[in-house]
Amino acid sequence: MTNAEIVKNFNKLFPDARCELDYKTPYELLVAVILSAQCTDKRVNIVTKELFKKYNTPQAMLSLSQSQLEEKIHSCGFFRNKAKNILQASSDIINRFNGQVPSNFDDLCSLSGVGRKTANVMVSEAFNGDAFAVDTHVLRVSNRLGIANSNDPNKVEFILKDFFAQKDWSRLHYQMVLFGRYKCKAIKPGCEGCPFQSICKYYNREK
Ligand code: SF4
Repeated sequence: MTNAEIVKNFNKLFPDARCELDYKTPYELLVAVILSAQCTDKRVNIVTKELFKKYNTPQAMLSLSQSQLEEKIHSCGFFRNKAKNILQASSDIINRFNGQVPSNFDDLCSLSGVGRKTANVMVSEAFNGDAFAVDTHVLRVSNRLGIANSNDPNKVEFILKDFFAQKDWSRLHYQMVLFGRYKCKAIKPGCEGCPFQSICKYYNREK
């Protein structure tokens, strides 16, 4: 199967793939992405719906103490680290970027708690750039499809960028996330009728 055929199949499976986190501004998206680590988007949306009513700017967020923020985001898991990163990133945004979330990849990566995955999501979703964020789903799917052969998300990001055309990166990221989340699950993937059976390492090993 060629890369163009893979793209075609993903377009057929998820023609409307998009970010499932609710946000209105780049800052809200940044907070939501930090909260989404090891947590479902659904849970994050429930938490941020309340949180953003009052605390949707770096300034407002910094009016909360670490423990107050922890309490508000508790149900997202890893709340101590996430609260610390959100407060530190908010302070970085005010002190180093004039209160505006930077749109540049390297500047985003310089914010506390922001790694390549989060920065890539920000570049493509908040700033309409071409980026390929590699989360656990993208990592698993790209290995199963034989596009990559590595458990290192940073390496896989570059492999995917080489393999697919730049114009397809951002959309494919969401398509692969949805595919991994709802069909090609880590345990008991729904292989029946999957268009990728012929190239799938997992399927051909298991059958
Ligand atoms: S055949 Fe199964 S494991 Fe392979 S890509 Fe499809 S759903 Fe995933």
